[in-house]
Amino acid sequence: MKVPFLDLKAAHDHLQGQIEAALLRVARSGSYVLGPELEDFEAAFARYVGSPHCAGVANGLDALRLGLEAMGVGPGDEVVVPANTYIATWLAVSQCGAVPVPVEPLEDTYNIDPDAVRAAITERTKAVLPVHLYGQPADMNVLEMIAQRHGLSVLEDGAQAHGARYKSRRIGSKGTVAWSYYPTKNLGALGDGGALTTDDDAISARVRLLRNYGSSIKYQNDVKGFNSRLDPIQAAVLKVKLDALDDATSRRQSIAKRYSEAFSGAGLCSPFVPAWADPVWHLYVLRHPDRASFQKRLADAGIATVIHYPIPPHLQTAYENAGHRRGSFPLTERLAAEVLSLPMCPAQTDEQTEYVIDNILKLA
Ligand SMILES: *Cc1c(COP(=O)(O)O)cnc(C)c1O
Repeated sequence: MKVPFLDLKAAHDHLQGQIEAALLRVARSGSYVLGPELEDFEAAFARYVGSPHCAGVANGLDALRLGLEAMGVGPGDEVVVPANTYIATWLAVSQCGAVPVPVEPLEDTYNIDPDAVRAAITERTKAVLPVHLYGQPADMNVLEMIAQRHGLSVLEDGAQAHGARYKSRRIGSKGTVAWSYYPTKNLGALGDGGALTTDDDAISARVRLLRNYGSSIKYQNDVKGFNSRLDPIQAAVLKVKLDALDDATSRRQSIAKRYSEAFSGAGLCSPFVPAWADPVWHLYVLRHPDRASFQKRLADAGIATVIHYPIPPHLQTAYENAGHRRGSFPLTERLAAEVLSLPMCPAQTDEQTEYVIDNILKLA
């Protein structure tokens, strides 16, 4: 048997007719930038997460960048970020001219450690940027309290967490969240896409301005903006996929439940889920002390796995002049050496899931 890590075509096979109809509708509409398709999707996604505002932008990185810009983050500012994240989280801060200040994750959830955030705050700190890593919510109440006490903005990176709940409320129903619709995300387009949701009217207005050349009235430019809009073709496809998101999430959750049942008591380092978290399993991540050979054994058995992520941002050449070294963030570095993401696709069959489980138990 072969088990792919994520089969994108199979994942939306049952929606293919609706997706193609949406593509044709846009092609025939004569409206190809901004417009009604985008507005429809923005309204639907805002409703889905429970936010008053959604602004579609070109990708998740831009959603982060424009969100930070809208919060007034700029040169001389520091933004506290997880050391343990995809590099886009850091790049958004750097693109604003600000400095990403990394902190270690919690050992159990791999999400940002609130105590480490507290310790990293200086008089230059302007914002905190928690990531809901692997689809598991960060501890937002605590982070919001810290931010409030120190007068900091909070921008959440929701790129892996569409539909996830924190203490029964959806991520996005409060605060400001940057989303990615990159094809492999839980809600993925047929190309790049992203959005910012916010309960702050001013941030919403600012991002709408920034994404469109700094202009709300054509040829009248209030600020030096960007060209970063969610394409109507992608918006139309995303609307179809949004209607099917909860079904896809349920499939992920039942696969994760089977994995966790099977691995508990087997001495495997499987994901820890706090009682208040309702994750959407963007990734199901194990840890293994001898990952390379474990991954090879699984590959030989036809099971595809991926590493998220093999090199943390602070050890990337891109950040070689940021003053960090090997050993600066030991837990993050250990995770980078040990994590392994198991096959997780809404279209994965029960047989495939059981095959993965049998082999993990045998080959770990
Ligand atoms: C994918 C991702 C991003 C970037 O999104 P793009 O749409 O690819 O630009 C940012 N942060 C995290 C945590 C991601 O997983």
